Amino acid sequence: RRWGIAIPLGYAVGAIRHPDRPAVIDERGALSFAEVDQRTTRLANALREHGVESGSRVAILCRNHHGFVEAVLAASKLGADSVLVNTGMSGEQVSAVLAEQGVRLVIADSEFTGHVSPPEGVELVVSWTEGTTSHTTVEQLIGRSGTDALPKRPRHGRMIVLTSGTTGTPKGARRPDPASLSPATTIMSRVPLRSGERMMVCAPLFHTWGLAGFQLGTVLGATLVLHRRFDPQQTMAALQRHRCTSMFAVPVMLQRLLELPPEQRRSYDHRGLRIVACSGSALPGELAKDFQRVFGSVLYNFYGSTEASWVSIATPGDLRANPDTAGRPPRGTTLSILDDTGASVRRGETGNIHVRNDMLFEGYTNGRSSEQHDGLMPTGDLGYLDESGSLFVVGRADDMIVSGGENVYPKETEDLISGFPEVSEAVVTGVEDPKYGQRLAAFVVLHEGATLDADTVRERTRERLSNFARPRDVVFLDALPRNATGKVVPGGLPAVTPEQSR
Ligand code: ATP
Repeated sequence: RRWGIAIPLGYAVGAIRHPDRPAVIDERGALSFAEVDQRTTRLANALREHGVESGSRVAILCRNHHGFVEAVLAASKLGADSVLVNTGMSGEQVSAVLAEQGVRLVIADSEFTGHVSPPEGVELVVSWTEGTTSHTTVEQLIGRSGTDALPKRPRHGRMIVLTSGTTGTPKGARRPDPASLSPATTIMSRVPLRSGERMMVCAPLFHTWGLAGFQLGTVLGATLVLHRRFDPQQTMAALQRHRCTSMFAVPVMLQRLLELPPEQRRSYDHRGLRIVACSGSALPGELAKDFQRVFGSVLYNFYGSTEASWVSIATPGDLRANPDTAGRPPRGTTLSILDDTGASVRRGETGNIHVRNDMLFEGYTNGRSSEQHDGLMPTGDLGYLDESGSLFVVGRADDMIVSGGENVYPKETEDLISGFPEVSEAVVTGVEDPKYGQRLAAFVVLHEGATLDADTVRERTRERLSNFARPRDVVFLDALPRNATGKVVPGGLPAVTPEQSR
């Protein structure tokens, strides 16, 4: 099902229907739909002079600002693909991605130019500049190119999103044709987004979730409000100043908003905010509850992945009834929980979450396609459906550990500890154990001024969890090592010392 409206068309339509409406607002000001449309046509023509053509790949290494949006649009206007590079990658990782993806040109913020070495013959153009730069800048390209004629485009430009590599090296996943309106119509069947939304996208645009906000915003003629880095106070101030109606965030950002001193948070007016869409990593039930208490019934929990798109959505009502739920599949999505043999499990039983929709990714850029059972794609996550058909995600299949012969899901323990009043956040993982094969270790961050010791944590979990689901090790940290979407990076956790074990 192709509806035939591409992202550039969204801006072109916006430029005709509401030319003066701001399309993007960031720290440097606002650009209207007409301006974005004209600037990106000029940029597309300039990029063509720099060797980018239909079918080429352009790497984008930018934070959230108008330059990211314009780079994607310009590439798309030429029929070139955008490779969205994670800004948290090391220079070595970025160089590997640039070589592997065979990019023709790189558009990067000046803060990244120091550690990026593009392959021989690949030009680097600077988008957001701080200070001066010796590279050609996007502004110079736009300024020099006087051409306002839209280049001929034999194909739509596509997006290549890199998975964050939580479970290995980042993989390039080709998203479906951007001409498809399916993702937007599917979401809008569950979430009351409207045309002309004022949408703050806090999630990084290079990640599927931020990109989802950007694409949806385009289709809705929305004003995108962007900040290069997430800052809770700046976010609250911008919600008020730009009268934002919706926000796309990851769970750890919601946590940061709740950690602001209440009197400071209350000094901002966010009454216009109707939709806070959260995804990227699991939303802890306690956080969902606290967030709705403070911000009202505005929270939507989206469960999905780069490969599967949306699998399920929980509405504010679903979350009020059960804050731990990932909700129900949206229109056109089939959800099945299968056991290891591929047979359906009974309601309430945990198994492998599989999904079928018309938004599944088109394969990895290294040629590997997704493995599927009867058109159902495994998400790599474990979960169950309750009697009413609501989904509960238990965790990644890879995270499940076997301790003393028992299957143990660390998330159950993690959710319990995260809910302790002294605890700000916690993560629980498996570590090797000479006696039981594996055992659980808890890494805990306390609220400022709170006190809690390891024995109390063990004592409290004893009351609620089976023997193997209790953490043997309890380690207190100042902060958890997280990536841009808020997932804890296992390699960033300290090794557990024998004294912490029991
Ligand atoms: P990699 O495949 O390299 O680990 P990644 O972690 O970046 O990459 P994403 O596609 O960004 O992959 O993340 C998808 C995963 O995040 C899901 O499979 C699930 O484990 C988790 N996730 C995302 N949203 C939710 C949610 N609402 N509830 C529970 N888990 C979620």
